[in-house]
Amino acid sequence: TMLAGAAALAGYAVSAPAHAASKASDRIEALLARMTIEEKAGQLSCFADMIRPPIGDINPLVNLRNAQTLLAETRAGRIGVLMNGMGTQGALDAQKAAVEGSRLKIPLLFAADVIHGFRTVFPIPLAESGSFDPHLCERTARAAASEATASGLHWTFAPMVDVARDQRWGRVAEGAGEDVYLGEVLGAARVRGFQGKDLKAEDSMLATPKHFAAYGAVTAGLEYNAVELSEATLREVHLPPFQAAFDAGALSTMSAFNDINGVPSTANKRLLTDVLRGEWGFKGVVISDYTADQELVAHGFAADDRDAARQAILAGVDISMQSGLYLRYLPELTASGAVPMAVVDASVRRVLALKEALGLFDNPYRSINDKVEAMRTATPALRQLSREAGGRSIVLLRNEGGLLPLPRSGKRLALIGPFAEDRDNVVGPWAFFGDKSLNVDLATGLRAAMASPTDLIVERGCEVETTIAGGFERAVAAAQAADIVLLAVGESQDMSGEAKSRTDIRIPPVQQRLAEAIAATGKPVVVLLRHGRAIALEGVVRDAKAILATWFLGSEMGNAVADVVFGAVNPSARLPVSFPLESGQQPFYYNSRTTGRPAPADPNGQEYKARWRSIRNDALFPFGFGLGYTSFALSDLKLSEARLRWNNTLHVTAKVANTGPVHGEHVVQLYVRDRVASRTRPVRELKGFQRVSLAPGASREIRFDLRRDNLMFLGDQDRWVVEPGVFDLWVANSSIDGLTGSFELLDS
Ligand code: BGC
Repeated sequence: TMLAGAAALAGYAVSAPAHAASKASDRIEALLARMTIEEKAGQLSCFADMIRPPIGDINPLVNLRNAQTLLAETRAGRIGVLMNGMGTQGALDAQKAAVEGSRLKIPLLFAADVIHGFRTVFPIPLAESGSFDPHLCERTARAAASEATASGLHWTFAPMVDVARDQRWGRVAEGAGEDVYLGEVLGAARVRGFQGKDLKAEDSMLATPKHFAAYGAVTAGLEYNAVELSEATLREVHLPPFQAAFDAGALSTMSAFNDINGVPSTANKRLLTDVLRGEWGFKGVVISDYTADQELVAHGFAADDRDAARQAILAGVDISMQSGLYLRYLPELTASGAVPMAVVDASVRRVLALKEALGLFDNPYRSINDKVEAMRTATPALRQLSREAGGRSIVLLRNEGGLLPLPRSGKRLALIGPFAEDRDNVVGPWAFFGDKSLNVDLATGLRAAMASPTDLIVERGCEVETTIAGGFERAVAAAQAADIVLLAVGESQDMSGEAKSRTDIRIPPVQQRLAEAIAATGKPVVVLLRHGRAIALEGVVRDAKAILATWFLGSEMGNAVADVVFGAVNPSARLPVSFPLESGQQPFYYNSRTTGRPAPADPNGQEYKARWRSIRNDALFPFGFGLGYTSFALSDLKLSEARLRWNNTLHVTAKVANTGPVHGEHVVQLYVRDRVASRTRPVRELKGFQRVSLAPGASREIRFDLRRDNLMFLGDQDRWVVEPGVFDLWVANSSIDGLTGSFELLDS
């Protein structure tokens, strides 16, 4: 069934001239002609205003300790980009220094990590990705841009589109999870949201899909660790979400901290220039991650700081973030000829083109204005959107006997656990700018929804990782006095995010012991799981009657959880990451490649199979899985043709029916498997999904379209191929079930 090579679609060794001058405006050319090398280096330098504490002593070269230095450096033309949000007054002062006080009057770009909201915080991206709802992701990104630009910002270092297949990695929280296709669709949606329809509009923000590339593939999930990756996995898994984000119009990207097969991303010319600009035609700007250029020295890839600067710019890093290396070394590197001036000029053109695209030359102050800020910050509409997004991100993992939703009255509830009454752990990582006064904790949200708020007893029980004196006893007493226990356990928000890799992805032991003490009362338990990654649930938590994955939902967390707990919102999110049976399965993801010895369903006779000694390599809750307060049935799978001609489109249709008691939404998923190929292929791959909304008893036909482009993979000699032959497909409720069919792709 193979015609290897015959079906090759595209090789990838097309390399455009490394620094081909893109057409810049006359204004840009005129500026460039007047710039000194110091001024050029300034445009290629980004500095933080020290709202974030400096990490160690990594920036001895340029130390922007205070606003005065920062303004003086700006006037001297030594800064092109300022990062991290100095507030409207600070932005006004800095922009004034640039456009009135500097020789060339080039406006500054203001950048920040606006990852999931700004003052009003939305769910962490991983949680929101569970919505399987690109429209929602676009709306929250749009709203975040509106709020952030109102404080003078132009540029966000988001979305993170790194595919994360190892839940030990702390930054799983910031992305779309383990799947490539979901990552493509949601990454593109977020870019559209941040950037809006017109970059010149003062509420539009440049988006930065990051971290280029394969940061999610760090070995063992250890932050900053080496990446060992086949070309096929790089191309098929880690790069597509970037490409989708660029296709959606993203005009910048960030070079990652990690190496790939021995070449640090920040000095990786093949990646940053040959692939990005040559193959993909990317016209935007590459910024290094925070001091990533200087870290080439620690990597042992550059001899010293000068060499690091040289390698980074030659590889294709336009802007150096925070290290100051370009400012310090580009003058002498160009003087000696080690770096051609044409290379520097090409980068400067790109940066100036970005400023021009944002309209900054004509309108340098854009929205920097107190009135705009007040009007667009923490509005009721933003809070409402945060609450809605929160509700749409919660995954109902179990609901035995229909325990949920709970009645609003007539039951005594005990809310127990370190997150019960805790406003410090609702927004999650990467929410530096969040207005804490907006944070709604669980107790507050639940009480607000109850007919008589005194029916809720709250006990902390223990701290996140340590005991508190008498905590267990009080918690057990509260459980005994209640009809139903809501158990709020999991990770604190500083257990995920950057540099928060974990060796073990279970709930901290003290909380597990608290859960056991509570379960021993025999009261029905609803687990409200707090987390920034998939968790390996165990014991009584795993076996609880009801489990809600509530992640970190942002400012409105307590209200969003209450909406689901009491049924105002029927949960409809699906897992964007697989929940494993045990921590030790990591890296664990549904679309792993086939083995020669798959473990049979039959629990006996499983020797010498791809399984663990103690468990099958299964999910506790698989990717794509999630329940609601109604039920859905799939039926009537039809394929428009059994034998698909090379240029045709296959229509896959099925019926989805709401077979339960209430209105609900379902995410119908399409998976494919290439049965026989010239390389081993994933056991299943997501190729489409559709969210449907149905009244009880109602049904609808849904249709997916499949073309041969959807069936490509990296074949022999690392060329993209589609191979004729038989493909299996599933129209499914999750990555492990579904109606199944197959078709044959013909070679003509
Ligand atoms: C992170 C980036 C972030 C940058 C600027 C780095 O430590 O890896 O994701 O954009 O800091 O804050």
